[in-house]
Amino acid sequence: MHDFKYVEGELFCEEMRVEEIAPKVGTPFYLYSSKTLVDHYRKLDKAFSSLPHLVCYSLKANSNLAMCKLLAQEGAGADVVSSGELFKALKAGMPAQRIVFAGVGKTEEEIEYALKAQILMLNVESVPELDLINEVAGRLGKKAQVSLRVNPDVDPQTHAYVATGRKENKFGLSMEVARELFERRAEFTHLKMVGVHAHIGSQITSVRPYVEALQKIVVFIKDLERGGIKLEYLNVGGGMGIVYETEIPSTAEEFARALLPLIKQVQAKVILEPGRFIVGNAGILVTRVLYVKKTAVKTFVIVDAGMNDLIRPSLYGTYHEIRPTSGRKGTMPESDKKLIVADIVGPICESGDFFARDREIPEVEGGQLLAIFGAGAYGFSMSSNYNCRPRPPEVLVKGDKFQVIREREKYEDLIRGEV
Ligand code: PLP
Repeated sequence: MHDFKYVEGELFCEEMRVEEIAPKVGTPFYLYSSKTLVDHYRKLDKAFSSLPHLVCYSLKANSNLAMCKLLAQEGAGADVVSSGELFKALKAGMPAQRIVFAGVGKTEEEIEYALKAQILMLNVESVPELDLINEVAGRLGKKAQVSLRVNPDVDPQTHAYVATGRKENKFGLSMEVARELFERRAEFTHLKMVGVHAHIGSQITSVRPYVEALQKIVVFIKDLERGGIKLEYLNVGGGMGIVYETEIPSTAEEFARALLPLIKQVQAKVILEPGRFIVGNAGILVTRVLYVKKTAVKTFVIVDAGMNDLIRPSLYGTYHEIRPTSGRKGTMPESDKKLIVADIVGPICESGDFFARDREIPEVEGGQLLAIFGAGAYGFSMSSNYNCRPRPPEVLVKGDKFQVIREREKYEDLIRGEV
């Protein structure tokens, strides 16, 4: 599933020993495997190869240019949710005609930028947004391609913060409103309504919610067809889950096997918007133990990465596997020493600054390196400078070589733009 493996008790990323990289770049740092990234993209691409399809990598998961460039070279398009992401996707070489733009709050400026860049389409989430795109397109003398994002009202069985396809969520249009807009399409003289979009949530491990959503959408599209409205695109969104702990997520083939028969009923080109599935397990965060602090009730392993570097555990209470990057020569870290139960915490001034609570890990001491797995998606991309901490570098491994693909921020970066 990924190319982070222990060989004789030492953690390797592809053919690079993690402990060899650490002194050269300092800690903490993000470490990515190019092979894992590309393999995951190819798996999904291949699974849907029996139909005309487009995999639009979701930049929000990880928008590093080098990573996006690797995916662009594989033929990936991009799913963006801001003009900043659009800027980066274009910079990385993702062709405009393979870029789709979602999000409930696109500004007029962002719409103008997207139309001038001639992206494939905007995924529209509200009636006033549709009106505004029509107006901006008219002003620019363009015909804007749009899909309507529908909210199929299904339970994706994931964390509430990343569930997006239930009717109480802010995303998408109800099927009724979407149908009415398609029927009124002639009124929007500067728009071409080409498709339907749905994204029901993130870290979804079962195909069931997708099938449930798609069944509703297929009925919806067939209904439109009966009314003489033919759509070119069906965007099924992203959200495919990965292994963090003990999950058994459906594979790309299982997704395809469940979804393709439904998609084939409507003969539209399918768009997928995976983020986490492609990049989640392609990255780890490497951090150094600063201190081990024992109190009357707990042991705290204090590390040099904080919630500003990786916020998922603090924000969602999510699990990340954490292991020392080496054991004694020739042994796995776990077989090395006695196990302790500890909270693994960062240096930030918040009690919510933790990576694991009451976690059983091999006894560690100051100076040792820990790998926090599954940090490739929503890791660096959600990082911040909280507590005035310069953000860590990002490092990419290819075979037995590594390259810093984003430098560690400097103190000067902390005051850039301030007066
Ligand atoms: N598409 C849209 C519209 C999204 O909002 C998201 C994530 O929130 C994604 C795709 C990517 O989701 P994931 O990284 O879970 O595949």
